[in-house]
Amino acid sequence: TKWVYGFGNGTADGKAEMRDLLGGKGANLAEMSSIGLPVPPGFTVTTEVCTYYYANSRAYPPELKAQVAAALADVEKIVGRKFGDPDNPLLVSVRSGARASMPGMMDTVLNLGLNDTTVLGLVRSSGDERFAYDSYRRFIQMYCNVVLEIDHHNFEEVLEQKKLDLDVHLDTDLKASDWKDVIKQYKKVIERELGKPFPQDPQEQLWGAVGAVFGSWMNQRAITYRKLHDIPESWGTAVNVQAMVFGNMGDDCATGVAFTRNPSTGENLFYGEYLVNAQGEDVVAGIRTPQQLTVQGKEAQKSDRPAMEEVMPEVYGQLAEIRSTLERHYRDMQDIEFTVQSGKLYMLQTRNGKRTAKAALKIAVDMVREGLIDRKEAVTRIAPASLDQLLHPTLDPKAQRKVLAKGLPASPGAAFGKVVFTADAAEKMARDGEKVILVRRETSPEDIHGMHAAQGILTSTGGMTSHAAVVARGMGKPCVAGAGDVRIDAKAGTLTVRGTTVKAGEAITLDGSTGEVILGIVPTIQPELSGDFAELMDWADGVRTLKVRTNAETPADAATARKFGAEGIGLCRTEHMFFEGDRIVAVRQMILSDDEKGRRAALARIAPMQRQDFVELFEIMAGLPVTIRLLDPPLHEFLPKTDAEMAQVARELGVAEKEIEARAAKLHEFNPMLGHRGVRLGISYPEIYEMQARAIFEAAVEVRKKHGKTVDAEIMIPLVATKRELDLMKEVIDQVANEVGKLNGVTLDYKVGTMIELPRAALRAGEIAESAEFFSFGTNDLTQTTFGLSRDDSASFLERYQRRGIFEHDPFATLDVEGVGELIRIAHERGRRTRKDLKLGICGEHGGDPASVFFCHQVGLDYVSCSPFRVPIARLAAAQAAL
Ligand code: PEP
Ligand code: MG
Repeated sequence: TKWVYGFGNGTADGKAEMRDLLGGKGANLAEMSSIGLPVPPGFTVTTEVCTYYYANSRAYPPELKAQVAAALADVEKIVGRKFGDPDNPLLVSVRSGARASMPGMMDTVLNLGLNDTTVLGLVRSSGDERFAYDSYRRFIQMYCNVVLEIDHHNFEEVLEQKKLDLDVHLDTDLKASDWKDVIKQYKKVIERELGKPFPQDPQEQLWGAVGAVFGSWMNQRAITYRKLHDIPESWGTAVNVQAMVFGNMGDDCATGVAFTRNPSTGENLFYGEYLVNAQGEDVVAGIRTPQQLTVQGKEAQKSDRPAMEEVMPEVYGQLAEIRSTLERHYRDMQDIEFTVQSGKLYMLQTRNGKRTAKAALKIAVDMVREGLIDRKEAVTRIAPASLDQLLHPTLDPKAQRKVLAKGLPASPGAAFGKVVFTADAAEKMARDGEKVILVRRETSPEDIHGMHAAQGILTSTGGMTSHAAVVARGMGKPCVAGAGDVRIDAKAGTLTVRGTTVKAGEAITLDGSTGEVILGIVPTIQPELSGDFAELMDWADGVRTLKVRTNAETPADAATARKFGAEGIGLCRTEHMFFEGDRIVAVRQMILSDDEKGRRAALARIAPMQRQDFVELFEIMAGLPVTIRLLDPPLHEFLPKTDAEMAQVARELGVAEKEIEARAAKLHEFNPMLGHRGVRLGISYPEIYEMQARAIFEAAVEVRKKHGKTVDAEIMIPLVATKRELDLMKEVIDQVANEVGKLNGVTLDYKVGTMIELPRAALRAGEIAESAEFFSFGTNDLTQTTFGLSRDDSASFLERYQRRGIFEHDPFATLDVEGVGELIRIAHERGRRTRKDLKLGICGEHGGDPASVFFCHQVGLDYVSCSPFRVPIARLAAAQAAL
């Protein structure tokens, strides 16, 4: 077996595609070498050695020693130095390199091969004694830290003491003789800590470092990281051994890092930093402030220190050429590391560069224009969820922030405003032109007007599908939910987080994309839906097959969603309309009437308003399907709470207040989510659904007659468990349709379908599809009922479940493909077996989650439906799923 892959001198055993075997770093070093870029020679010990090592009680394959020796000999030949040679020693770096970059693993040992003898050789060959001893002590320090696991503070103490003794502050103030002293003391530390001397044999050093890399694959940090990121243990890591080049041998030396394009804006400009006379770690460590690569960068930074372009024009010219070679070769923006030794340029690393969403978009679109990639490729280059960053205001990254608390990132975007604790206060202050943040323990439908008025919403309880989260997402407003550390005292008008108190009227800032709650005002940056965005979305639409609708009930939301490309409404939650304005009074009157007559009287007051709602939605969605769900939540949600509200209802109904209180108490349920809600209300009070159906049909007639627009209405019954429930409701609806049709001399075209949000409904989908013309998976409730997990109360312990690895994701945010997903598959299969053209969609919160959208595509649903601001995310995710 080949366990070792060499590279250097314009050739390589490996290539970029061999990432699994060589790790990311090794594969790219090989690739760069074989396309003729100046890479210091070296070799990669493969990930298979790592796997072998752990499968064989930490033993190496027998052939490994010889293969390493041969590869090392090749390196020696190329550079003309010998490993361990006292006169002209070869020094190497040893680095880990897994398939995916993995923090927590052993990182780097530099200058390996130095000892008391070879350091003299380095003095001679470099002609710089100080440099040689500085390199030696750096090596000892790094080696001890990562290989011998001696805590680095031991060495820092020595160094600090030395500087105190000499009364100097900087490492650069130490002379060769000082470093020699330091090295002596380092050796004493090692003897003291290990009871044996620092290894002088370069071979022992090399194998020690290789062993440390493999050993770090199984350290706790690496194991935890792999778990969190789903990286299998079986992948293993590779080890890269490479001839050292020095950027710290004088003023014709340098080291730097660069991105081939600006990683934050995506601009097609070379973007990077370098340091003269420094080693790679100095750039990262932040001890010295690096200088800009280009004159342009220098001017942008208003720096007065010269750019590399000016200081080393020739080397810079080579680097600029390599930049374009790498981009043409990899067809993506690269993140590179380089070193200049005595005026000669070396490439130490290249990889696809990390970037902001904005940069990803610009780079992808630009690269299509430049002919580097095609449109499909561009569509795959952007993480759908990252579009959030483009659609909402974001915090100015340059601004200071004092984070008070962290909650769930329930609805993306950033906003600041004065703290208010009631919806009414929010509305009042907003009317006076103030920006406010509504802070509640949790929100309820009665807070909607305050949520509309606020810039953002903060709650101290509730999860990703809590009322606040769902409504805020629908409105496109930032929301941080379930920030458990925030103690709210609404009476006193304060919120307190571990000792810090914020009073009503004082400002806070929310970042709904991270869940951060920040003290004071942090400036925000407005989104720019540039031409690039529209163009890329166009390309995405060209490849996707899954349709994308929106969850919306207000005209504003519906219009926003259309602007974002929604192809209809997948869920109009009519109960949200019941809270608007003074309707709530009529709704309460209906609920608290003690007979059908009373209910009908109240419903008659609501009917015209409800009809007008639908007229507006049908107009905005002209011709596109609009799924209207009939009343769903338990009635007690609408009950009057305050005495004044009780009194008002009593007056309207002409009964005693006491009586109203008694009737309200009767509606109380211990477990309302599994109680008298959904179709069960329709069964109890068919007149409610009858009124809603009438409003829908009359609206349809009006829109068609008056505005000449077609209407594609789908009427949806919630929380159905049996076919019979659906049949009874369908009868009511068909009856109304007949009446309205006759009265207006038209035949009404509409569909009746059901939500699938109970396991029983999914299992009995075959017979339910005899009556239902469409299914819409209500995965919020389906998740709740499949797991037996309350969607309102589980946030408090779900996080622990994720930490302990019981759940990989919050199942209310990302669909549980294994369990809930299986029910969806079953319902899909059984439903379509009964009715071939059964329309299938999903309208739970998962409809806007990219991983869940992938699943929906795979299963073969017709559409997903999500809140307006997630429509572009779903469009892109659907396109990627199709590719
Ligand atoms: C659902 O249960 O997934 C759903 C969309 O309905 P709601 O969230 O209104 O219960
Ligand atoms: Mg539901």
